Amino acid sequence: MGSEASPPPNQLHGFFFPLMAYGHMIPMFDVARMFAARGVKATIITTPMNASTFSKNVERDRLSGLDIDIHILRFPTEEAGLPEGCENVNNIDVPEMIPNFFKAVNMLQEPLEQLFENYHPDFIVADMFFHWATESASKFGIPRFVFHGTNIFCQCVEYSLNLYKPYEDIADAETFVVPGLPDKIEMNMQQLPDHFKLDTPFTEMVYKIRDSETKSYGVLVNSFYELEPAYADYYRNVMGRKAWQIGPVSLRNRNTVDKAQRGKQSAIDEHHVLNWLDSKEQNSVLYICFGSTSRMNTAQLLEIAMALEDSSYSFVWVIRTNGTDKDEKFLPEGYEERMEGKGLIITEWAPQVLILDHPSVGGFMTHCGWNSTLEGMSAGVPMITWPLFAEQFHNENLVTQVLKTGIRVGAGKWQQWLETKDVSVQKEKIQKSIQQLMGDSKEATEMRRKAKELGEMARKAVEDGGSSYTEFTSLIEELKISKQASSQKKHVI
Ligand code: UDP
Repeated sequence: MGSEASPPPNQLHGFFFPLMAYGHMIPMFDVARMFAARGVKATIITTPMNASTFSKNVERDRLSGLDIDIHILRFPTEEAGLPEGCENVNNIDVPEMIPNFFKAVNMLQEPLEQLFENYHPDFIVADMFFHWATESASKFGIPRFVFHGTNIFCQCVEYSLNLYKPYEDIADAETFVVPGLPDKIEMNMQQLPDHFKLDTPFTEMVYKIRDSETKSYGVLVNSFYELEPAYADYYRNVMGRKAWQIGPVSLRNRNTVDKAQRGKQSAIDEHHVLNWLDSKEQNSVLYICFGSTSRMNTAQLLEIAMALEDSSYSFVWVIRTNGTDKDEKFLPEGYEERMEGKGLIITEWAPQVLILDHPSVGGFMTHCGWNSTLEGMSAGVPMITWPLFAEQFHNENLVTQVLKTGIRVGAGKWQQWLETKDVSVQKEKIQKSIQQLMGDSKEATEMRRKAKELGEMARKAVEDGGSSYTEFTSLIEELKISKQASSQKKHVI
């Protein structure tokens, strides 16, 4: 650990243990910093290759007086049959490596227990994929919080699907309603994740994750009450789960440096992006990014390139290609020259929150990963939804069917991560959705208004007295009382 000294007796000490994937590490780091800003000693647990993702920010936070550090655990790549250095989901190029990656992840249980033994933290926030963390923490009498990284709506949809199985005996493209939810949510079989339909190795893990959640102390959620009030109530009252909505956690990043340095090293200088955006009119730029792990095939990327060229709107496009197509040039001859001034192309990693927060950005084409979706909402930006895998189709439904701050591009089929071989959306559909979102029709204007309203609600939620701020305060108070009670008990014994 950065500073091995034990915290003062009354100071809470929390462990924060994210899955080694940017979409999980980035928000968990923000959560750890939120705790540290309230006087908690926060220890982030990660592996050697992932520590560099946090180290600069941790240094800055420590200089500003936060008690935050990193503890490094060796990642057993060799024992799990992974190539050296493969410590992040981002390093996985072929689906065959996924089981090995999770084998290595599961081998972290013992080292984590050793840390509990050595440091006796007051609580741990562990990623949902560390399902064994609930059992490990309970051996030491430590409260374990689950961090899914997603919203409550999505938990409610999955709960209902499991309970009522409305997808049984239904044809692939036939629409069904997810039963018992506060809104009429429609979906079809093609949008369902595989684990509902097939018995995959992942299915077993899903059961373990669910079980560990119900036995945990509770769930920390990166959303805010006003975003999904009916679902927050359903989760607590119907599903009987304990949850604290403490987000949007990305709003913890207030200055340019913090916003620009989230996750990987950006491929572009942040000042260059800001200057470029400054030269554009308000709400005139479309930002396109599909998250940290998705990789589109070059044929699909070409469709996007052509749609952007034909559309009249400026754009910032973050391109990550399919691992195997990495060196293949797919952009049409002279494309980048033709797009000069109109489009800014960034390869691999962009300072996303910084871009979304810029007033010139008027739309976000997203894969609906929850962090991206919530970052877009927090910036008050309407969206074109293009879900690919994981729970992204549920997030699309939240945006388009409940909040009505976005439109679908028309991606119809849930895909296995890393297996995006088809062109699922043609140029014409992409172009149409850009026009619909960025144009000045009544529908687009109304969507923009709703998105702005949601962004304001998000900001209020994390301010002093806001819903997330208050839930977070009550959680910290609860932990303090529990620490006091357990130290008094020890004293009596
Ligand atoms: N991100 C970023 N720059 C990029 C791509 C992603 O900063 O070029 C960040 C983004 O802001 C978000 C996270 O990476 O915080 C991606 O998480 P999300 O849940 O949206 O998608 P995932 O990557 O898990 O599919």
